[in-house]
Amino acid sequence: MPMAAASTTVILGAGFGGIVCANALRKALPADHKVVLIEKGATFNFGAAKTWVAIGEKTASDIVTPLESLKRRGIDLVTAEVKSIDPKARAVETTSGRFKGDYMVIALGADTTMAAIPGLADVAHSFYTLDGASRLREALPKFTGGKLVLLIPRAPFKCPPGPYEGAFLLHDLFKRKEMRDRVELSVVTVEGRPMATAGPEIGDFVMQELRARNIAYLTQKKTVSVSPAEKKIHFEDGSSVDFDFLIAVDPHVAPKVVTDSGLAQPGGWIPVDAKTLAVAGFDNLWAIGDVATVPLPGRFKPDAPLVLPKAGVMADAEARVVAKQIAARVQGTTSDAAFDGKGFCFIETGDMHAVKGEGSFFELPHPIMQRRVPDMMQYEEKKKWMYDWLRENLV
Ligand SMILES: Cc1cc2nc3c(=O)[nH]c(=O)nc-3n(C[C@H](O)[C@H](O)[C@H](O)COP(=O)(O)OP(=O)(O)OC[C@H]3O[C@@H](n4cnc5c(N)ncnc54)[C@H](O)[C@@H]3O)c2cc1C
Repeated sequence: MPMAAASTTVILGAGFGGIVCANALRKALPADHKVVLIEKGATFNFGAAKTWVAIGEKTASDIVTPLESLKRRGIDLVTAEVKSIDPKARAVETTSGRFKGDYMVIALGADTTMAAIPGLADVAHSFYTLDGASRLREALPKFTGGKLVLLIPRAPFKCPPGPYEGAFLLHDLFKRKEMRDRVELSVVTVEGRPMATAGPEIGDFVMQELRARNIAYLTQKKTVSVSPAEKKIHFEDGSSVDFDFLIAVDPHVAPKVVTDSGLAQPGGWIPVDAKTLAVAGFDNLWAIGDVATVPLPGRFKPDAPLVLPKAGVMADAEARVVAKQIAARVQGTTSDAAFDGKGFCFIETGDMHAVKGEGSFFELPHPIMQRRVPDMMQYEEKKKWMYDWLRENLV
């Protein structure tokens, strides 16, 4: 099949999705076809390793990998911030000038902002950002006991099991430090139950694991504000919860440059086709990963529509599908590559144990997720997954 004239694909964001997409495309196309990857940061880190930083098992420098090696793979890595996006022209203005592609993939992820809730930023710790996890790592050893609240003030958020994994690891940490009896540990969430998209069986499992560790669980609590001086969280229903130490999942929003472009409504995400990840109304434009929203065909309750969970494995799978579509178009053909809505996640339950859940999210009448019983082998499997991903994509 003869190749068309040399093309340029511009990929915005070198996180999970952007890195996989750039690598897959680079492998699929001859060197005269440019793969430009624009990223404001210089390193990659796994969300899944941030909890290890927070609880003191790793430092931030242990878990970051420089992106520079992507250049050796023939990817044109541009270290710059995207300032504006013109989706029609598939062009962006960045701190290093203007870039325009024949094809464009938006993989800018989700921004996190404690500022979304009055008072939250003044007092809450976080393990959802690397800086937050590093600060938490310093603060936790100074906590000698009292009420520790792990707050989920808004949804959606990345990695639906993440906060629960955090609670299990904190329980484990306090047990090892022989201070668990001095800590009143609770998870307070806006959700109705844990991991609602994965179904009731998984939610029941997580709640049972919380109960087994004497971790209190409060649902349907939408946070309106936090009083740092009084150490109180206020909820929409008029109730409040006291804390001595607060850890919160930072509220998530689409990056401002995305909402400014009109591709996402304020408070929303870029709607995409569930199978092709194409952005409707534009040619050769795709959005993948956390920045996109993928509606699911099934639901557990008639009045509760579902969207695909935000997770690195999903961004990864979507990136491979989009790379195939772009490679086919470059070659003047079409691809029937389609995202199948399948993914997996590991939840660490503490004591070097983990459980792997395998989900099929496009099933009808509702998504299906199956899990095993937590054990040490699945903890090792999680580490291997991370190691293999880095080897395939970055180092
Ligand atoms: C604590 C925690 C645990 C997690 N555990 C798991 C897990 O076990 N399994 C799993 O699959 N997922 C997990 N995740 C979720 C996973 O990290 C995200 O879903 C994944 O990173 C999404 O990939 P992405 O490519 O969409 O976005 P990201 O990986 O966030 O990448 C987006 C990139 O865009 C860049 N960017 C943003 N704005 C600009 C701009 N204006 N200009 C230039 N660059 C920009 C960012 O710097 C970033 O590098 C976890 C997340 C957290 C926080």
